[in-house]
Amino acid sequence: MPEIHHTDLLVVGAGPAGYTAAIYAARASLKPILVTGMQPGGQLTITTDVENYPGFATPVQGPWLMEQMRAQAEHVGTRLIYDLIVQADLKKGPGPDGYFRLVGDSGDEFRARTVVIATGAQARWLGLESEKRLQRGGVSACATCDGFFYRGKTVAVIGGGNTAVEEALYLTHHADKVHLIHRRDSLRAERILQERLFSNPKIEVHWNKAVEEVLGSGEPEVVCGIALKDTQTGAPSKLDVDGVFVAIGHTPNTGPFLHEVACDSDGYILTESGGTETSVKGVFAAGDIQDRIFRQAVTAAGTGCMAALEAERYLSGIPAMTKT
Ligand code: NDP
Repeated sequence: MPEIHHTDLLVVGAGPAGYTAAIYAARASLKPILVTGMQPGGQLTITTDVENYPGFATPVQGPWLMEQMRAQAEHVGTRLIYDLIVQADLKKGPGPDGYFRLVGDSGDEFRARTVVIATGAQARWLGLESEKRLQRGGVSACATCDGFFYRGKTVAVIGGGNTAVEEALYLTHHADKVHLIHRRDSLRAERILQERLFSNPKIEVHWNKAVEEVLGSGEPEVVCGIALKDTQTGAPSKLDVDGVFVAIGHTPNTGPFLHEVACDSDGYILTESGGTETSVKGVFAAGDIQDRIFRQAVTAAGTGCMAALEAERYLSGIPAMTKT
């Protein structure tokens, strides 16, 4: 039997942004409800060692870190509900009773005075079985997170946009050799990034190449190379690499919010400069759903905190934070 849940603050999404928003909201006595979505823990549940989240002297496991955030959110008074928001009525503002209405896949209805959207984004993958199989063995979508583990090694970056070029440049601080694999004969990345790329002696660009397979060896299996195919001639080739960074873009998990708050042309939610307010008063967005640049657990957590503080001010009738 579907239920109706009332709350002052509904958090949608269970990644670092969502959990942090819930922790701050709970400690402000807002009795938040957090609806977890399909992948509680978000992108950190598909990573292994996390070494750049402050507070831990030695690496921690991504799933463990998210479990700690969940436990902390519940400990301070968050109610977690394992459901997926499939409908959200936001754009007309709250109803006459002061509540926004959202509906879960279970049929449950959520009535919330404020909403924090923290549904995150997903890295786009090539779609190869071998790429998926080796995600814990050297295939990554985040050079900032995993580049450190390739000190003195050889890696490949797949893609031709800003992210791919930035990741390739970043990886030269760690790896001895970086192969950039692009399916066409020109890059999409900004000119200045291209200049830096071409002048870096550690980077070799492979034009007109598509990845056919990520190659693994050993037990547990780790990446040992990539099989390529020339997109013009069809000629096969192989490269020996220790790690593969897929940088072919991200997809924001905007789902039912797409036409309810203002989004950019790629579906990222637009927020006020320096804050988390969306185009709808009382609705805030935090984490990767509104950030296409930094995409780090710690920046997501930071904006989650901001969203809860802004929601608290909104509920108290205090004007939004002053932007400078
Ligand atoms: P983009 O969509 O700009 O680029 C994706 C790249 O991946 C393209 O070169 C594309 O090739 C390639 N690609 C896509 N699908 C496949 C596939 N299946 N197989 C092989 N290659 C594929 O994504 P980015 O993440 O680079 O950037 C997204 C947005 O974020 C852009 O607007 C970018 O400017 C912005 N950004 C800004 C940054 C900054 O300002 N510092 C940093 C990072 C991103 P093709 O070119 O052939 O389509």
